[in-house]
Amino acid sequence: MYSPRFDDYELGPHHPFKSARSRVVYDLCRKLGLLDHPWIRVVEPTALDADTMALFHDRDYLEALREANDGVFRDPMILFNIGTGDCPVFKGIYDYCALAAGASHKAMRMLLDGEVEIAFSPTGGFHHAGRRHAEGFCYVNDIGIVIEELLAEDRRIAYIDIDAHHGNGIQNEYYSNGRVLKISLHESGETLYPWGGFETETGSGDGAMCNVNVPLPAGTDDEIFIRAFDEIVLPLVGAYEPDIVIGIVGTDCLAADPLTHLNLTNNGFSAAVRRMRDFGRPLLLLGGGGYNLESLARAWTLAWAVLNDIEPQDKHVGTIGGVLLGNQEIVDGSLRDMRRFASGPERDVIEEKIERVTGFIKKTVFPAHGL
Ligand SMILES: [Zn+2]
Repeated sequence: MYSPRFDDYELGPHHPFKSARSRVVYDLCRKLGLLDHPWIRVVEPTALDADTMALFHDRDYLEALREANDGVFRDPMILFNIGTGDCPVFKGIYDYCALAAGASHKAMRMLLDGEVEIAFSPTGGFHHAGRRHAEGFCYVNDIGIVIEELLAEDRRIAYIDIDAHHGNGIQNEYYSNGRVLKISLHESGETLYPWGGFETETGSGDGAMCNVNVPLPAGTDDEIFIRAFDEIVLPLVGAYEPDIVIGIVGTDCLAADPLTHLNLTNNGFSAAVRRMRDFGRPLLLLGGGGYNLESLARAWTLAWAVLNDIEPQDKHVGTIGGVLLGNQEIVDGSLRDMRRFASGPERDVIEEKIERVTGFIKKTVFPAHGL
């Protein structure tokens, strides 16, 4: 899903969230010929209507966002947490959010209608927004809107979130809903906003044992991350048999990200994305966070290549480097990051912490799913 109109908006010159994210990924995919295949389409979204956004959000909250569209802050907006440092008012705020939500929504419809098997919307995955408040750079929760519509059509949903931040907006809203299996692998709330998302938060009522958190210690590398993914996500999603998989693929889990403390590279990242594809269900991929624009562009471009089995071969790296050097935003000659590993006593501590978490999940959550 891509629209050049995403570039018309800016949260602010010093805000970490850059609306250029969709364009840099689109440009890099184009340059590398990763969109030039008969089964690939670039679809331009349109703004989502307020009625559909109201499937998830309260009307007065949407109205406050619409009032902020002129870029002027008014006192009552603060009741909805609009106009803070993290969630500033900016010109076109409502239009931007409606366009982003429109992209996620259109992608979901195309998947349900069987038009495509995989859809990726880089400007999507705003997992912190609440029903009536903005939070963590997120205003309109496109994921919640999509989930509401899927639930109304009686679909079973697996939500897999590998953004470095815990997907608190989705957990909070669907904590007691057993029709949404929520799995989040994120940097531990001990060291990162939103300071929660611990393994003991397993869901309640009808949603008991359908909320799965895998907090990752600062410094977690590819190998440890993929091991946790394979041990927890693969069996649970397999047993759950969802109708659709929603993946939140924030690149802030990468070592290059300035806001977080994990040690992943896009090798581990893209391996997780490939596993999401290999469930063989319709796959809706939504961007999430990512605050190093170059790292984000390479990671999502690599993920796109991997999803489509058109990953550039190593022998072509030289050629690709030549192409990339023509783009000032991309200075690395290869899509793939250099490998990184945690080592020594730090690694032992990380492994011990993760084993404690995965052990807990296997003991408490797995039996409820027949595992
Ligand atoms: Zn994030």
